[in-house]
Amino acid sequence: MNKTVAINDGIIVSMNDKREVFKGSILIENNKIVQIERGPSRLKADEEIDAKGSIVTPGFICSHTHLYGILLRGAPLKLKPPSDFTQNLQRIWWPMDETMNSDDAYISALTASLELLRSGTTTFADTFSGPNAITGVLDKIEKGVLEAGIRGFISFEATQRRNEEEGYQGLKENERYIKKIKNEKMNGMVSIHASFTVHDDLLKAGKELSDKYSVPITIHTSEGKWDLYHNLERYGKRTFERLYDLRILGNKTLVAHAVQVNEDELNLIANTGTSVAHNALSNMLNAVGIAPVPEMLRLGINVSIGNDGYVFDTFENIRATYLIHKVNKLDPRVMNFQQVLEMSTINAAKSLGIQDKLGSIEEGKLADLVIIKPSVIPTPLNEGSAYGYLVNSVNGKDVNTVIVNGEILLKEGKFTKIDINEINEKAEKMVSNYWSRLMHSVEKIEILGL
Ligand SMILES: [Zn+2]
Repeated sequence: MNKTVAINDGIIVSMNDKREVFKGSILIENNKIVQIERGPSRLKADEEIDAKGSIVTPGFICSHTHLYGILLRGAPLKLKPPSDFTQNLQRIWWPMDETMNSDDAYISALTASLELLRSGTTTFADTFSGPNAITGVLDKIEKGVLEAGIRGFISFEATQRRNEEEGYQGLKENERYIKKIKNEKMNGMVSIHASFTVHDDLLKAGKELSDKYSVPITIHTSEGKWDLYHNLERYGKRTFERLYDLRILGNKTLVAHAVQVNEDELNLIANTGTSVAHNALSNMLNAVGIAPVPEMLRLGINVSIGNDGYVFDTFENIRATYLIHKVNKLDPRVMNFQQVLEMSTINAAKSLGIQDKLGSIEEGKLADLVIIKPSVIPTPLNEGSAYGYLVNSVNGKDVNTVIVNGEILLKEGKFTKIDINEINEKAEKMVSNYWSRLMHSVEKIEILGL
C-alpha cells in the first residue's frame, strides 16, 4: 500500500523555474511529491503535518564537505599556529588524514550526517581522505550515512602527496564503490585532492573514470596561492589553464573553492560548464582569500555552497555567503537572498547532475523537504518575507521537520529513527581515542619541524 504524507498550509519556497513562493500544501506519495495545491486547501493523507506559520523549502544540498572534519571540533591540538594554508594542511589536515581508520570514518560519517540533517541538509557531497584506510572505507562511510538516513555522494580523495601509487589506490576505491552501490540514497563520485598533489596522469585517469560511470568528478582548486604557484612554476600554467589543457573541466566537473583565479580562468570555468562549490566560512578560517563569486554569477557559472567540513549548520553557511561578498566589494548589491538560496538548493543539485530529481519543490520530484518554524516571529511571516527570514534570521535549530525520500527523519526537532544520546555517547568514546592518536601524529610533525 502507498504511504502518503501531506504538508498543509505552509509558505512554500519552491525554487522552481519561476522561483515562486506561495501559501499552499504538498502531497507526498511514497518517495515523490505528487501534488502541490495553492491557497488554503488542506490535503488528506495517512500523515498530515500542519505547516501553518512555517516555511517549507526543498532539502538543502551541501556540494562540498568532509564529514570527518567533524572530528576536529574542539580538538586541543598543541601546535605552532600555521602561518598559511599549506602549513595548515601539513600541521592539521594531513596528520588528521593519516590517523584515520575505518571506524573513525564510520563514526564521523554518522555524526556529521545527523548534524547536517538537523539543520535541513538532505544531500551532501563528501570527500574522505585517509591513506591508512583506503580499500573498503567507503562502505563504512556509507553505513554511517544510511543509519542517519540522509542522501549522500561519497568518494575517496585521491592524492599522490606521499607516493604515486596511493593516488591510483584512491581512484580504485571510488570505482569499487561506484560499481557496488545498491541503495537509492547513495551515489558515488570521483574525487581528486588538488592539482598540486597529483600528476597529470592521475587527473586524466580520474576524468576517464567520471566519464565511464557518468558520475561527477570533484577537485580542490586554487584554494590558497600554493596551488597557483605550483602550477605556474612546474607547468607554466595557471591552475585552470592546466586543468583545461588536460580536459578535466566540463559539466560533470565540480571544483571546490576557485579562490585564487583570474578573469581568464573564470572564462574557462564558464565556457566549459564547470560548477563551483563555494565555501565562504572555510575560506575565512584558512585565510586563503575570497572567491570572486559575484563575477562567477555574472558569467553564468553554476555556483553552489559547501561547508568544507567546517561548520555544518546549513544556515550559517548560507548567511556567510550572503555577507562576505558585500563587505569584500563594499557594495551590498552584489549578493541577494534568491541567489544564496539557489546556491544551496537548485544550483547544488545541478552541480551533482541531480537537478531533474532534487533541488526544488515540484510535482514528480523526490520528496526531500524541510519545514522551518522560526522560534520567535516578531514580524509577519508571509510570501514576501520568507526569503529574508531564511537568509537573515533562521538557524539550524529552527528546523522543525526534515523529510528525505518521503520519510520523516526529524519531527518537532527530534530524530524519529535514532537515539541521538546513545550515538553521542558512543561517538565521544571513539573520538577521544582518535584524538589521542591524533596528538601523537601532530607531535611527530612538530618534531619534523614542518
Ligand atoms: Zn575541501
